[in-house]
Amino acid sequence: MTTPIRLLFVAGAGRSGTTILNTILGQVPGFVSVGEVRYIWERAFGENHRCGCGEPFADCPFWSDVIARAFGPAGPPAPEPVSRDLLSRLRILHVPAMIARSALDRPTVPPHHNDAAIHAIYRALADTPGVEVIVDSSKLPPYGKLLERLPGVDLRVVNVVRDPRANAWSWRRVKQTGDTDKNETMEQLELWRSSLVWSAWNVLIARWFPASARSITVRYEDFVARPRETTARIVAMAGGDASALPFVDEHTATLARTHTVAGNPNRHQSGTVALRVDDEWATAMPAAQKWFVTALTFPLIRRLGYRFRV
Ligand SMILES: [Zn+2]
Repeated sequence: MTTPIRLLFVAGAGRSGTTILNTILGQVPGFVSVGEVRYIWERAFGENHRCGCGEPFADCPFWSDVIARAFGPAGPPAPEPVSRDLLSRLRILHVPAMIARSALDRPTVPPHHNDAAIHAIYRALADTPGVEVIVDSSKLPPYGKLLERLPGVDLRVVNVVRDPRANAWSWRRVKQTGDTDKNETMEQLELWRSSLVWSAWNVLIARWFPASARSITVRYEDFVARPRETTARIVAMAGGDASALPFVDEHTATLARTHTVAGNPNRHQSGTVALRVDDEWATAMPAAQKWFVTALTFPLIRRLGYRFRV
């Protein structure tokens, strides 16, 4: 009998401050934090970006072992078509069709033959000695729905939300990826675009992964205010040992490097790290921009516990 693939899926809109949470979760005994695996095809197989451990993906001993067990001597399929297919199946434009399909009890994301290769990676991760929970920070709700249907997957979800004004500000910042030697910067989004994406994904997460014994919602602001307590709740929900967390005090954690395949450059951070709220937006963001984002996201702001006036 094969063991279940226990997957802790970190859901949320991009730039919700999930990176430090992923790194902390990756320190819990039995947990392995693997980053945004939905990008493994493009950025790891295709472009050989750096793993969280600092090695280029192809040289990382952890991933070399996982990939060898997942695909055997034949190796993984060509990454470009898988990446293109995923991009196409998970597009925000397809959300109305996804909602219609799930209402008809059909798979939210249409199955595809590439799902076997995606599944092979998670199967090999789950079969790695010492791994009990895989932490995948792919965030995109449709990808969570795709994973939920893979054979043997026991999906747990932590939904991270962040003030939409902070989120929009973060999307405007110019930041190096640190993933290659090419000085590439992270993608930027206009305010209207990040506001709509924030709203769409948060509505879908509430609909697809409502609060339950297998799913919780955490506000980024509460997590950085009480990181130890919040992490303990998430770990317990995922079936882990909440007494073995990497904190030296309420706000300071000791972090070893993780084998994350993609994500925010902070994933390369290690050592003793003090958690601080990133609230640069509160003083740096022009009032007109704050109001613009508030106007576009207002139906959800109160429901998620944020104030209109900032
Ligand atoms: Zn690595």
